[in-house]
Amino acid sequence: MSVDTKKLVIIGSGPAGLTAAIYGCRADLDPVVYMGTKYGGQLMLTSDVENFPGFPDPVMGPDLIMKMKSQAERLGAKLIQEDVVKVNFGVYPFEIRTDNGVVRALSVIIATGANPRRLNLESEMRLMGKGVSNCAVCDGFFFKGKKVAVVGGGDTAMEEATFLTKFANSVQVIHRRDELRASAALKKEARSNPKISFVWDTVVTDVLGEKHVQGVRTKNLKTGQDGVLEVDGLFVAIGHDPNTEIFKGQVELDQKGYVAIRNETESSVPGVFVAGDVHDFRYRQAITAAADGCKALLDAEKFVKQRLDAQMVS
Ligand code: NAP
Repeated sequence: MSVDTKKLVIIGSGPAGLTAAIYGCRADLDPVVYMGTKYGGQLMLTSDVENFPGFPDPVMGPDLIMKMKSQAERLGAKLIQEDVVKVNFGVYPFEIRTDNGVVRALSVIIATGANPRRLNLESEMRLMGKGVSNCAVCDGFFFKGKKVAVVGGGDTAMEEATFLTKFANSVQVIHRRDELRASAALKKEARSNPKISFVWDTVVTDVLGEKHVQGVRTKNLKTGQDGVLEVDGLFVAIGHDPNTEIFKGQVELDQKGYVAIRNETESSVPGVFVAGDVHDFRYRQAITAAADGCKALLDAEKFVKQRLDAQMVS
C-alpha cells in the first residue's frame, strides 16, 4: 500500500459519518473523514434533541455533533474540514480529491446526507428551531395543545400532519395545488383525521414572529389573495435533496438522486458503502443514520480485510 492509500475514507460528518468513524477506529481502519467545510449536517440546524438515547436532558443538535466528533477524535479518527470535490470509483484504490490534493482508499463510506428543501424565506431561517421545523418526529412534542401548519402535498407532508395530530390541537396543511401528490393510503389517513384541514392553492410568503413563530402570511395562487394563519409552528415538508452531486456517474443513483443500495449498505461499486440520509429518504433520524454508519463500517471492515488478505497471498 502506498503512503497515500488509506484503508477507509468517510465522506460526511453527520451522525452516519461520525459513527462510522468511531467504529472504524476500533476496527483499526485508521479512518480519514472528509467532514466538509460546513460539517455536521442537519443536526447543526436543530435546537433541542430529546429523542437521542443516552441524553436524559435535551441536547442541542450542534452539541450532539461536537460530542460525536470528540469521541471519533479521541479514538484516533483523522477529521479534515474540507469538501470532497471529485471522486473516481473507476480506479482501485479509489481516488478522492479535495482542493488540497488526492488520497486513495481501499474502501469509502458515503455519508453526505440530504438537505431539506426550504421555502427560501429569510424569516423561515431566522425562526428555524424556534417554531419552524423540518421534522415532526423530532419536534412535534413541543407543540402539545398548539396550532401548527404543514407545507407540502407529498407523502412526508401527510405523514407529518398525521403525526402532529398526536400533540397539536389543529394541523393546517398548506399546499400549492388543489391535488395531493401523496400516496392514496397516506392521503386517506390525513383527510379522514378531524384535526387536519387543508388550505389549497396556497403558498407561505412569510413567517411571522420575532422570537418564535406566531403565524404565517399566505398567498392564494388562484385568487391572488393574501392572508394570515395564526399558528405556533410551521413544518416545512416539501422534500429533501440528497447530496450526491459528486457521485453522479460514479455510483448508481435512483430516480430522485439518492444513492441506490443493495444489501443495506452496498453501493453499485464493491468497496463503496453508503450510510444515512444520502440513501434513506424514509426514516431520516439521527439515530437511524448513526445505526447505518455502524452497519456500513462493519461491511467496509470485512471488505478491507478480504483485500488485505488477498494482497498478502499474492
Ligand atoms: P415529494 O414527494 O417531492 O413532495 C414534495 C411536496 O412539496 C409536493 O407536494 C410539492 O408540490 C411540494 N413542494 C415542493 N417544493 C415546494 C415549494 N417550493 N413550495 C411549496 N410546496 C412545494 O417529497 P416527500 O413528500 O418528502 O417524499 C419524498 C419521497 O419519499 C417520495 O418518493 C415519497 O413517496 C417517499 N416517502 C415515502 C413515505 C412512505 O412510504 N411512508 C414517507 C415519506 C416519503 P407539488 O405536488 O405541487 O409538486
